[in-house]
Amino acid sequence: MSRVLVSACLLGEACRYDGQSKETDRVQAWAEAKVKEGGTLVAVCPEELGGLDTPRPPAQLIGGDGAAVLRGAAQVETETDNVTGAFVAGAIRAANRGSGAKEAVLKARSPSCGCGEVWQDGAVSPGDGVFAALLKSRGVSVRSDEDLP
Ligand code: SF4
Repeated sequence: MSRVLVSACLLGEACRYDGQSKETDRVQAWAEAKVKEGGTLVAVCPEELGGLDTPRPPAQLIGGDGAAVLRGAAQVETETDNVTGAFVAGAIRAANRGSGAKEAVLKARSPSCGCGEVWQDGAVSPGDGVFAALLKSRGVSVRSDEDLP
């Protein structure tokens, strides 16, 4: 049975930095179809798994995307704190929780979950969030929720 990692906020968990969830009709329809065909959805929030509170201050990538963070070449920061360690630890825990998954659907543009474009240095830029980058490095096929049909 296929396992698919999904950003928990897309499945209705109120785990976003602002204490909200981010369900959409598109994700809901995709999730229902996936379960119907026998898939198992593994909902994870890497930022909560990294020990960050909800709600929490918004964070952004500084100096590079999530792949650069994993190489030690960029940081994740809020207005007052460097939260790089929590983001990396949470990404590893979330990836391990979804061990065996070959596919992931993640929330667009998040500094953890963004895939293809992320908030970096004050603007939306090409790149991946920390969690998306880690999954890609492990061979998982990652899509943004906005790329679902
Ligand atoms: Fe959603 Fe990912 Fe942000 Fe958690 S870290 S709230 S799962 S986008």
